[in-house]
Amino acid sequence: MSEFRNARGPMTTAIHAGEAPDPATGASAPPLHMSSTFLSGDVAGFSAHDLVEEGGFVYTRWGNPTVDMLERKIAALEGTEACLATASGMAAASAIFFTFLSAGDHVVVSDVSYAGVAELARDTLPRLGIDVSLVDMSDPGAVAAALRDNTKLVHCETPVNPIGRLTDLASVAQLAHEAGALLSCDATFASPLGQDCAGLGVDLVMHSVTKYIGGHGDAVGGAVAGARDLVAQLRLEAGIHHGGVMSPFNAWLIARGAATLPLRMRAHEAGALEVARWLETRPGVTRVIHPGLPSHPQAELAARQMTNSSGMIAFQVGDAVAGRRLAEAMIERLDIIHYAVSLGHHRSLIFWMETEPLMETSFRLTGPQLESYRAYAGDGIFRLSVGLEDPEDLIADLAKVL
Ligand SMILES: *Cc1c(COP(=O)(O)O)cnc(C)c1O
Repeated sequence: MSEFRNARGPMTTAIHAGEAPDPATGASAPPLHMSSTFLSGDVAGFSAHDLVEEGGFVYTRWGNPTVDMLERKIAALEGTEACLATASGMAAASAIFFTFLSAGDHVVVSDVSYAGVAELARDTLPRLGIDVSLVDMSDPGAVAAALRDNTKLVHCETPVNPIGRLTDLASVAQLAHEAGALLSCDATFASPLGQDCAGLGVDLVMHSVTKYIGGHGDAVGGAVAGARDLVAQLRLEAGIHHGGVMSPFNAWLIARGAATLPLRMRAHEAGALEVARWLETRPGVTRVIHPGLPSHPQAELAARQMTNSSGMIAFQVGDAVAGRRLAEAMIERLDIIHYAVSLGHHRSLIFWMETEPLMETSFRLTGPQLESYRAYAGDGIFRLSVGLEDPEDLIADLAKVL
């Protein structure tokens, strides 16, 4: 357990952390402060370097009371000192890369990741003179071999989108720290309930809060949680200078969602296990991946590291032609499950992700790295985000096409 993990239980933390009754009105629910600027009580400077912590609000790109409320809530859930909320999950990933990396630095990035992060790491970072090593992060030995004198950051994602492969966070954190590098982890699939990132040694925990933390499919946002000094650097560089901050309205919506996160994660996990076990019985389904199943290739690591196996399932149905045909049938015939990208919402979502096109656009893997990807995904997978509907209704919906 990280030392900043809230002393209260996760359900109490999710509801109360960051919130306080409004002293002006007595309102029990947190107010929404849609104000871009705040009255100054003194003649302060006009640079981000003049930002003093706990010094009151100045301008919403620097900080806003409603966004601050969400940041405190997420920091409490992650057991970290501080958090920066960003305009999207991608803004959170760019915040990490562009705050802690400069030309001439080296970064180790998971060879499989959210596609936007994969493309940023392959195209944008090298263009700015940052050396990138793409590594299968399920193998700590491969991480050790990739580290160099100028490695400043190791960026992993666990479970990884879209295939559900895991990284042993404690092992990779030790390797990164021995090399003098920071470890960041995209924990979007797991949510803050899925693993104790900070306790396992992760320095920067990032989320697309568009997904589980917001949880209702209505607001886009991101977050990076970590130690106070690291988050202060992120706020100065990525928030104030690059400007990708979260709107107070989104923060308000996302905080309302976050209040029920522990309860929702339990239901996502239970529903996903029920659907995954049913999928394993279907003759047309050739492979089902979920970290809560004994059949997961890293079931031992999942049991050791994960405290909630989450609602994300990947499954195969044979070759790419069979996958495409089934995707078309789903678009036609599913009534409850929406055929759409994104994940972590109360509504179930499914999407077909074919290996070959994804390799061309995003991952560009060859040799053993491609083999490792295909061991999970074959010619393609359906990424199913199990929502909060009754699992038997989801199974009945899937049974129409499977
Ligand atoms: C969706 C997602 C992102 C990007 O988040 P946005 O909010 O869409 O910008 C990053 N990482 C993972 C794992 C995701 O699923």
